Amino acid sequence: MPELPEVETIVRRFRPLLEGRRITGFDTRWKKQLSPSLAAVRAGCVGRRIVRLARRGKFIVFQLDPPGCLLVHLRMSGRFEWGANCECEPGHLRAIWTFEDSERLLFCDPRKFGRVIYAPDLATATGELGVEPLSRAFTVAKLAALLRRHRRRLKPLLLDQRVIAGLGNIYTDEALFRAGLHPLTASDTLRPPQIAALHAAIRAVLREAIRYQGTTFDHAYAGGDMQHRLAVYGRKGQRCPRCGAAIRYARVGQRGTHFCPRCQPIRGRRRRLVRRGQRQTQAGAAR
Ligand SMILES: [Zn+2]
Repeated sequence: MPELPEVETIVRRFRPLLEGRRITGFDTRWKKQLSPSLAAVRAGCVGRRIVRLARRGKFIVFQLDPPGCLLVHLRMSGRFEWGANCECEPGHLRAIWTFEDSERLLFCDPRKFGRVIYAPDLATATGELGVEPLSRAFTVAKLAALLRRHRRRLKPLLLDQRVIAGLGNIYTDEALFRAGLHPLTASDTLRPPQIAALHAAIRAVLREAIRYQGTTFDHAYAGGDMQHRLAVYGRKGQRCPRCGAAIRYARVGQRGTHFCPRCQPIRGRRRRLVRRGQRQTQAGAAR
């Protein structure tokens, strides 16, 4: 699934094509992807001009004039294409925006998990989302407060979009590796230097991934180069670039997690909490 760097890359690619254009038509082949309804999405965008293309978490945001807001979440396999022809199979085309000069924006999504949402304003649409990790609001103190307040294991906490918006499986694993933190560490047990390291790691890995235009992982997202710079994600059994140990893979919650057992150790109280967490996870899985 595209995460913050991939969505940011898409927004930057499509910004020069879309900003300033007036939408003259909207059509869909799969109206279950639309929220709150086809009628609301069509009425919300047709006749309006795209004044800004932006990103919030993993959402692509169309800011419209007269004021309104269209959000697209690509989920597993969603993709934008520009122009008359779609490179994907015709059956995978889900939505089409037409502009006053007859140009078209196509939304292709083989697996149909993507979403197109209309909302009167951005705050209404994204009120549940947590802090943007590359914004000024995301300070070390802010991260420290989130880690203390939520008291969860680091991996599921960082993946929770209501806490920090934009991180997914790839960049969470990479940030935890860079910070030297085990994914099962209890969030309220981190010491100040570890919190500062995690904060720096999250921002550094996201900035680097944006610079390399994200990670190409399958046909749904192409053109990125970050896959060549990942230390642990997708590298199960391969050598850790820092210490040479074999990268481990484990399920944490429902998510596959990659880490280096030597660079990301668990110690003391954290180890006990982790053991408890593992038992809870096993008990949860057995239910
Ligand atoms: Zn290592």
